[in-house]
Amino acid sequence: MNSFASPQTLVDLPFPLPADDLYSRVLDAILDQRLLPGSRFTEDSLGQMFGARRSEIRSVLTRLSHQQIVILRTHHRPRIATPDAEQTRQTLHARRLTETTLVRLACQRPQDLKPLRAMIENERHCCERGQALRLSGAFHLALAELAGNAPLVHFLDSLVPLTSLAIAQFDAQVEGYCDWQVHEGMLDAIERREAAIAVTLLNRHLDHLEGMLLDSPIALRQKRIAM
Ligand SMILES: [Zn+2]
Repeated sequence: MNSFASPQTLVDLPFPLPADDLYSRVLDAILDQRLLPGSRFTEDSLGQMFGARRSEIRSVLTRLSHQQIVILRTHHRPRIATPDAEQTRQTLHARRLTETTLVRLACQRPQDLKPLRAMIENERHCCERGQALRLSGAFHLALAELAGNAPLVHFLDSLVPLTSLAIAQFDAQVEGYCDWQVHEGMLDAIERREAAIAVTLLNRHLDHLEGMLLDSPIALRQKRIAM
Protein backbone atom coordinates (compact mmCIF):
# COMPACT_ATOMS: atom_id res chain seq x y z
CA MET A 1 0.00 0.00 0.00
CA ASN A 2 1.30 3.45 -0.82
CA SER A 3 1.25 5.27 2.48
CA PHE A 4 2.01 8.66 0.93
CA ALA A 5 -0.85 9.02 -1.51
CA SER A 6 -3.30 11.29 0.20
CA PRO A 7 -4.85 13.94 -2.03
CA GLN A 8 -5.44 16.14 1.04
CA THR A 9 -1.74 16.41 1.73
CA LEU A 10 -0.37 16.81 -1.80
CA VAL A 11 -0.32 20.57 -1.63
CA ASP A 12 2.24 22.89 -3.10
CA LEU A 13 2.70 25.75 -0.70
CA PRO A 14 4.27 28.94 -2.02
CA PHE A 15 5.92 29.72 1.35
CA PRO A 16 7.77 27.63 3.96
CA LEU A 17 5.65 26.43 6.87
CA PRO A 18 6.66 27.40 10.39
CA ALA A 19 8.53 24.45 11.97
CA ASP A 20 5.84 23.76 14.58
CA ASP A 21 3.11 23.71 11.99
CA LEU A 22 5.03 21.30 9.76
CA TYR A 23 5.81 19.09 12.78
CA SER A 24 2.09 19.02 13.70
CA ARG A 25 1.04 18.12 10.17
CA VAL A 26 3.57 15.29 9.90
CA LEU A 27 2.59 13.94 13.33
CA ASP A 28 -1.11 14.18 12.43
CA ALA A 29 -0.40 12.15 9.26
CA ILE A 30 1.40 9.48 11.32
CA LEU A 31 -1.34 9.31 13.99
CA ASP A 32 -3.97 9.27 11.26
CA GLN A 33 -2.09 6.39 9.63
CA ARG A 34 -1.67 8.25 6.35
CA LEU A 35 1.95 7.32 7.11
CA LEU A 36 1.67 3.75 8.30
CA PRO A 37 3.51 2.25 11.31
CA GLY A 38 6.64 0.45 10.07
CA SER A 39 6.62 2.22 6.69
CA ARG A 40 9.82 3.73 5.30
CA PHE A 41 10.16 6.98 3.41
CA THR A 42 12.74 9.49 2.21
CA GLU A 43 13.20 13.17 3.05
CA ASP A 44 12.27 13.95 -0.55
CA SER A 45 9.02 11.96 -0.49
CA LEU A 46 7.98 13.63 2.76
CA GLY A 47 9.00 17.03 1.36
CA GLN A 48 6.74 16.42 -1.63
CA MET A 49 3.89 15.22 0.52
CA PHE A 50 3.97 18.29 2.78
CA GLY A 51 5.25 20.89 0.32
CA ALA A 52 8.29 21.52 2.51
CA ARG A 53 12.05 21.89 2.00
CA ARG A 54 14.38 19.03 2.77
CA SER A 55 16.06 21.01 5.60
CA GLU A 56 12.65 21.64 7.21
CA ILE A 57 11.72 17.95 6.92
CA ARG A 58 15.08 17.00 8.43
CA SER A 59 14.52 19.09 11.55
CA VAL A 60 11.02 17.64 11.99
CA LEU A 61 12.47 14.12 11.66
CA THR A 62 15.11 14.90 14.28
CA ARG A 63 12.38 15.97 16.69
CA LEU A 64 10.25 12.91 15.89
CA SER A 65 13.27 10.68 16.38
CA HIS A 66 13.84 12.13 19.88
CA GLN A 67 10.20 11.28 20.55
CA GLN A 68 10.81 7.68 19.33
CA ILE A 69 8.15 8.13 16.64
CA VAL A 70 10.59 7.90 13.73
CA ILE A 71 13.60 5.58 13.70
CA LEU A 72 16.67 7.16 12.10
CA ARG A 73 19.60 4.87 11.25
CA THR A 74 22.66 5.57 9.11
CA HIS A 75 22.36 4.11 5.58
CA HIS A 76 18.69 3.27 6.14
CA ARG A 77 15.60 5.17 5.09
CA PRO A 78 13.72 6.69 8.06
CA ARG A 79 10.97 4.43 9.37
CA ILE A 80 7.82 5.01 11.44
CA ALA A 81 8.15 3.19 14.78
CA THR A 82 5.91 0.29 15.77
CA PRO A 83 5.75 0.27 19.59
CA ASP A 84 4.81 -3.18 20.92
CA ALA A 85 2.76 -4.01 24.02
CA GLU A 86 5.81 -4.25 26.32
CA GLN A 87 7.28 -0.94 25.15
CA THR A 88 3.86 0.66 25.63
CA ARG A 89 3.57 -0.75 29.15
CA GLN A 90 7.02 0.60 30.08
CA THR A 91 6.26 3.97 28.48
CA LEU A 92 3.04 4.32 30.49
CA HIS A 93 4.86 3.34 33.69
CA ALA A 94 7.48 6.03 33.06
CA ARG A 95 4.71 8.53 32.27
CA ARG A 96 2.96 7.75 35.53
CA LEU A 97 6.13 8.37 37.59
CA THR A 98 6.94 11.57 35.72
CA GLU A 99 3.49 13.11 35.40
CA THR A 100 2.60 12.47 39.04
CA THR A 101 5.63 14.50 40.12
CA LEU A 102 4.93 17.22 37.55
CA VAL A 103 1.31 17.62 38.65
CA ARG A 104 2.37 17.87 42.31
CA LEU A 105 4.93 20.55 41.42
CA ALA A 106 2.35 22.42 39.31
CA CYS A 107 0.05 22.64 42.34
CA GLN A 108 2.75 24.47 44.27
CA ARG A 109 3.03 27.38 41.83
CA PRO A 110 0.64 30.20 40.92
CA GLN A 111 -0.49 29.55 37.35
CA ASP A 112 -2.03 31.23 34.35
CA LEU A 113 -4.30 28.44 33.17
CA LYS A 114 -5.98 30.30 30.30
CA PRO A 115 -3.81 28.72 27.55
CA LEU A 116 -4.64 25.24 28.90
CA ARG A 117 -8.35 26.04 29.04
CA ALA A 118 -8.08 27.08 25.37
CA MET A 119 -6.41 23.74 24.57
CA ILE A 120 -9.30 21.88 26.21
CA GLU A 121 -11.72 23.88 24.03
CA ASN A 122 -9.78 22.76 20.94
CA GLU A 123 -9.88 19.15 22.11
CA ARG A 124 -13.60 19.45 22.72
CA HIS A 125 -14.30 20.56 19.16
CA CYS A 126 -11.81 18.34 17.36
CA CYS A 127 -13.30 15.42 15.50
CA GLU A 128 -10.36 14.36 13.33
CA ARG A 129 -8.66 11.29 14.80
CA GLY A 130 -4.95 12.02 14.22
CA GLN A 131 -5.32 15.64 15.29
CA ALA A 132 -7.36 14.65 18.35
CA LEU A 133 -4.61 12.29 19.47
CA ARG A 134 -1.95 14.98 19.01
CA LEU A 135 -4.01 17.63 20.85
CA SER A 136 -4.56 15.28 23.80
CA GLY A 137 -0.83 14.61 24.02
CA ALA A 138 -0.07 18.32 23.68
CA PHE A 139 -2.35 19.01 26.66
CA HIS A 140 -0.33 16.61 28.86
CA LEU A 141 2.90 18.32 27.80
CA ALA A 142 1.50 21.81 28.42
CA LEU A 143 0.29 20.67 31.84
CA ALA A 144 3.81 19.40 32.55
CA GLU A 145 5.27 22.80 31.70
CA LEU A 146 3.33 24.33 34.61
CA ALA A 147 5.68 22.47 36.96
CA GLY A 148 8.66 24.62 35.97
CA ASN A 149 11.07 21.70 35.59
CA ALA A 150 12.54 21.63 32.07
CA PRO A 151 14.41 18.28 32.28
CA LEU A 152 11.24 16.45 33.35
CA VAL A 153 9.22 18.10 30.58
CA HIS A 154 11.92 17.11 28.08
CA PHE A 155 11.72 13.53 29.32
CA LEU A 156 7.94 13.48 29.12
CA ASP A 157 8.18 14.81 25.55
CA SER A 158 9.92 11.53 24.65
CA LEU A 159 7.00 9.50 26.06
CA VAL A 160 3.71 11.22 25.23
CA PRO A 161 3.79 11.10 21.39
CA LEU A 162 4.85 7.44 21.60
CA THR A 163 1.70 6.71 23.61
CA SER A 164 -0.34 8.46 20.90
CA LEU A 165 1.35 6.29 18.26
CA ALA A 166 0.54 3.15 20.27
CA ILE A 167 -3.10 4.21 20.42
CA ALA A 168 -3.17 4.86 16.67
CA GLN A 169 -1.50 1.52 16.02
CA PHE A 170 -3.56 -0.60 18.41
CA ASP A 171 -6.63 0.97 16.86
CA ALA A 172 -8.13 1.90 20.21
CA GLN A 173 -11.14 4.19 20.13
CA VAL A 174 -10.02 7.80 20.28
CA GLU A 175 -13.19 8.74 22.16
CA GLY A 176 -12.03 6.63 25.07
CA TYR A 177 -8.44 7.87 25.08
CA CYS A 178 -8.20 11.35 26.47
CA ASP A 179 -11.50 12.73 27.54
CA TRP A 180 -11.47 16.55 27.59
CA GLN A 181 -13.64 16.39 30.72
CA VAL A 182 -10.94 14.41 32.53
CA HIS A 183 -8.38 17.01 31.47
CA GLU A 184 -10.65 19.76 32.73
CA GLY A 185 -11.03 17.99 36.08
CA MET A 186 -7.25 17.78 36.51
CA LEU A 187 -6.86 21.44 35.59
CA ASP A 188 -9.57 22.50 38.06
CA ALA A 189 -7.78 20.58 40.83
CA ILE A 190 -4.48 22.28 39.97
CA GLU A 191 -6.19 25.67 40.01
CA ARG A 192 -7.48 24.94 43.53
CA ARG A 193 -4.00 23.56 44.39
CA GLU A 194 -5.53 20.25 45.45
CA ALA A 195 -2.54 18.04 44.63
CA ALA A 196 -4.01 14.80 46.02
CA ILE A 197 -7.11 15.13 43.83
CA ALA A 198 -5.10 16.11 40.74
CA VAL A 199 -2.80 13.08 41.21
CA THR A 200 -5.76 10.72 41.78
CA LEU A 201 -7.45 11.95 38.59
CA LEU A 202 -4.19 11.60 36.65
CA ASN A 203 -3.58 8.05 37.91
CA ARG A 204 -7.14 7.04 37.09
CA HIS A 205 -6.72 8.57 33.63
CA LEU A 206 -3.48 6.66 32.93
CA ASP A 207 -4.92 3.43 34.41
CA HIS A 208 -7.84 3.71 32.02
CA LEU A 209 -5.49 4.32 29.11
CA GLU A 210 -3.26 1.39 30.05
CA GLY A 211 -6.21 -0.98 30.42
CA MET A 212 -7.64 0.13 27.09
CA LEU A 213 -4.33 -0.25 25.25
CA LEU A 214 -2.94 -3.41 26.79
CA ASP A 215 -6.27 -5.22 26.59
CA SER A 216 -6.72 -4.32 22.92
CA PRO A 217 -6.80 -7.34 20.56
CA ILE A 218 -3.43 -6.45 18.96
CA ALA A 219 -1.66 -6.10 22.35
CA LEU A 220 -3.14 -9.37 23.62
CA ARG A 221 -1.98 -11.15 20.47
CA GLN A 222 1.56 -9.76 20.95
CA LYS A 223 1.53 -10.93 24.59
CA ARG A 224 0.55 -14.45 23.53
CA ILE A 225 3.33 -14.55 20.92
CA ALA A 226 5.91 -13.38 23.51
CA MET A 227 4.89 -16.03 26.05
ZN1 LIG B 1 -5.16 12.78 28.71
